[in-house]
Amino acid sequence: MNELILIKLGEIALKGLNRGNFEAVLVKNIKRRIAPLGGFKVKTAQSTIYVTPTTPNSDIDEAERRIQTVFGIAAYSRAARAEKNIDDIKQVAAEYLGDELEQVESFKVEAKRSDKKFPMKSPEICAELGGYILEQFPHLHVDVHNPQLTVTVEIRDFAAYVHGRSKRGAGGIPVGTGGKAAILISGGIDSPVAAYMMAKRGVELTAVHFASPPYTSERAEQKVKKLLEIVSRYSGRMIMYTVPFAKIQQQILQSCPEELFTIIMRRFMMQIAQRIAERTECSALITGESLGQVASQTIGAIACTDEVCSIPVFRPLIGMDKEEIITISRKIDTFETSIEPYEDCCTVFTPKHPRTRPVLKYVRLAQDKLDTQSLIDEALEGVKITKIGFDLYKEN
Ligand code: ATP
Ligand code: MG
Repeated sequence: MNELILIKLGEIALKGLNRGNFEAVLVKNIKRRIAPLGGFKVKTAQSTIYVTPTTPNSDIDEAERRIQTVFGIAAYSRAARAEKNIDDIKQVAAEYLGDELEQVESFKVEAKRSDKKFPMKSPEICAELGGYILEQFPHLHVDVHNPQLTVTVEIRDFAAYVHGRSKRGAGGIPVGTGGKAAILISGGIDSPVAAYMMAKRGVELTAVHFASPPYTSERAEQKVKKLLEIVSRYSGRMIMYTVPFAKIQQQILQSCPEELFTIIMRRFMMQIAQRIAERTECSALITGESLGQVASQTIGAIACTDEVCSIPVFRPLIGMDKEEIITISRKIDTFETSIEPYEDCCTVFTPKHPRTRPVLKYVRLAQDKLDTQSLIDEALEGVKITKIGFDLYKEN
């Protein structure tokens, strides 16, 4: 059986002038994602991407699973290729969809004839193929309004394609068409979800993680790496920058009022992340903050953190409830890893009474007691680089 995957473009079909570029990026992302799975040809024609196995060891089942995580795909179907004549179409349909047809009671046929030179019109194709299916599967009846299975025949330029149900794709827009941003990633529940959400909007990611050895362990860092590996199934590969943060935290603890500890620490995080963003061509930062969740996530506290940023800070979870965030983290499979109990640098030093309405003037005054620039430079010198998700992909 000549089986392949037919992919329908998502929102990108609407994007007018950008469309050519979006399609090209999507094709590149698909190729990368399935490259390790044996030979596949990936080509676009008439708003559809055809993914065709080319070698006996091409793993089409795994290719389908991976395609489900590629952003920019609205829907896809597995299909069988037939010759462009009605006899072959009938045979292929009965054979390819036989198991599914056995399991349902009602069906209908839909024909899409984009090759107008094909001698039969759509209603004729439907009648002829429908009749044949009824002969072969006498338990069936036709239900044009509410069929349990729709058999679709697409007559295209080079061949005809037969398929059953279409499945939903990951939606969104292709990663790489929305610029590049740096995600501040902790080991918690929220930031991996924020990363996923921005990747869904086409943003390519770079990750920044603050670690505080010896207060935080190697295993805490491994946990963050594991979370990013999961995110990279959707976002594509990325580089993770691990920043040593203990010294900065100690200095804040020594020299600043306790109730401002968190806010000043967060300003440092933003400043450092922004420096990494500049070096890696990221034009925005992303965090997993949600309004009101903790003391540092009030409007006042966020205003004080953002004051040190000169590039946009995206907070895709800002209006979401914890439950809604958890639902996504379960869906993308980060939840179980996020709740593993390793300490984060933020939880190592937590003030008892953090300021929920910090006054910017005092925050600045307090931070000015520290030599902010050299602390940042020193932290940047100690940055460690880890490649994430590179074994998932192969350049082609
Ligand atoms: P998360 O579940 O993502 O940890 P949270 O609700 O626990 O979020 P905080 O711990 O206050 O909230 O952190 C808010 C945001 O700051 C995080 O979503 C993340 O973007 C960033 N952040 C926190 N800790 C770190 C860290 N150790 N390294 C990098 N970014 C961090
Ligand atoms: Mg956290």
